[in-house]
Amino acid sequence: MSQTLSGVGVTPRSGVGTARWYRPRDGRSETGGREHDPESERERIERAFASAEAGIESTRTSVADRIGEEEAAVFDAHEQFLADPTIREGIEAAIDRGEPAERAVEAAFAGPIEQFEAMEGRVAERADDLRDVCGRLLDGLSGEERADLSGLPTGTVLLAERLTPTDTARLEPERVAGFATIAGGRTSHAAIFARSLGIPAVVGVGEGLSTVEEGETVGINGETGEVVADPDEAAVDRLSAGVDHDAIDERVRTTDGREVDVAANVGTVSDLDRAIESGADGIGLFRTEFLFLDRTEPPDEEEQLAVYREALDAFDDRVVVRTLDVGADKPVPYLETEEGSNPFLGVRGIRRSLGPDSALFETQLRALLRAGAGRQNLAVMFPMVATTEELDAALDRVETVAAELGEAGIEHARPELGVMIETPAAVLSARALAARVEFFSIGTNDLSAYVMAVDRDDERLAALGDPLQPAVLRAIAESVEAAHDAGAWIGVCGEMASDPSLAELLVGLGVDELSMSPISVPAVKAEIRSIAAEDAERLAERALAAERLPEVEALVDHD
Ligand code: PEP
Ligand code: MG
Repeated sequence: MSQTLSGVGVTPRSGVGTARWYRPRDGRSETGGREHDPESERERIERAFASAEAGIESTRTSVADRIGEEEAAVFDAHEQFLADPTIREGIEAAIDRGEPAERAVEAAFAGPIEQFEAMEGRVAERADDLRDVCGRLLDGLSGEERADLSGLPTGTVLLAERLTPTDTARLEPERVAGFATIAGGRTSHAAIFARSLGIPAVVGVGEGLSTVEEGETVGINGETGEVVADPDEAAVDRLSAGVDHDAIDERVRTTDGREVDVAANVGTVSDLDRAIESGADGIGLFRTEFLFLDRTEPPDEEEQLAVYREALDAFDDRVVVRTLDVGADKPVPYLETEEGSNPFLGVRGIRRSLGPDSALFETQLRALLRAGAGRQNLAVMFPMVATTEELDAALDRVETVAAELGEAGIEHARPELGVMIETPAAVLSARALAARVEFFSIGTNDLSAYVMAVDRDDERLAALGDPLQPAVLRAIAESVEAAHDAGAWIGVCGEMASDPSLAELLVGLGVDELSMSPISVPAVKAEIRSIAAEDAERLAERALAAERLPEVEALVDHD
């Protein structure tokens, strides 16, 4: 008989398939009844650490290739957990007391896992990362490979207690019709990876999921959070449609008529097709640094010209190209980088374009202005701006390049110009910056990190660096006000804009454009059509009055 369970939907997609349970490690590890000689256990643990380290590195590389650099950064946090001296010392002390290595590992991780689980909000989900690292060490000790999730039969709906980032990264979207887990939340890495891979997924279903049997037909609705075991024919039809939201090609409005642009973030030419298919209203962020990666020298003017033309031709709508944003978490191997003690506070973004990468910046501007010739939709923005001098210098360079092209009789465009708001300094100088440009785009990934003084890749501080922190929301609100007072438009292109459940809050804060990974465009468009700007403003007001992150989380979860 058909049974419907409910959890938290994390991907705006649905699918139907055959249930298959994934139980990577049932109960405690087998350690046998043998004697445990500390010396040999120490050797075993050494080898397990080495294999875990290599495993994390290779997963990181494959996630960076298949899913994206941003998603791959979680494995940097796994490396940090693995290198954590407290955990290492705990394991060694237990081994010295005669414990088998397996038990020593489990005991050393149990405390930190419990501590994370006891925390409020999203940081609790970091316990999954610790479990992942712990699981790798146990795998290394047992010498067994984890079940290979990359070779699942086509049409599998994977069911599990929980999925670690490593498990989720192995899933192949062509084969997996969806997954559902007993535990887990909306911001877990399993959820984030599922979204990026486009796999229908529901997490946090609870123990009820255990009643679904191996081999049963299961439908997953990643938007409503429904998990239907043994669905009837009508439910199969509804769920197997694959995508819940048809791409909406036209612009969308709230129910009370406020138009909001829903654009896509792209990094490569192949992303453009996905952006078109998603029904995006143009491109809100073209991360051009991706054109400079995985090669031995930078693309020249002609190569860049061709790529930018392709992007501009793909849309009638505006295409916002961000100038090269390298440094910190985005190193380009062939560019000389002087690593300061903290690269995130070092020479990155516009600082490089006005400094060591000045020649590259000029080439890029030439290619961009030439690409925009005869087209009306080019917009160019600068990353990591902190001062008006930097913005003035960048705008000057645009003027100079335009003048040189003019003198040489080369056709070129006068693009719309904008600045990314991703440093606290830019927020505090927003009025002066807004007077100089046509638009702002808020990079909430970096802005949250810098406002909260948190490394954006440090999973231990994920809650502190959450864009829903009241201080970050106030920074967004101030930037919106400054932009609008100066007659400029303002978008958000950080990860926050990809989450349909945050669209109402951002619309309420007055943001004019949301730009996101293409897969989220249809769901965010559908969400905007279902909300009233007036309600959104009230929600934003309440969120701005909140003093703690959980209050804001509760507002967006329940509204
Ligand atoms: C951001 O910082 O939010 C942003 C969109 O830029 P990136 O993630 O490329 O640094
Ligand atoms: Mg950024």
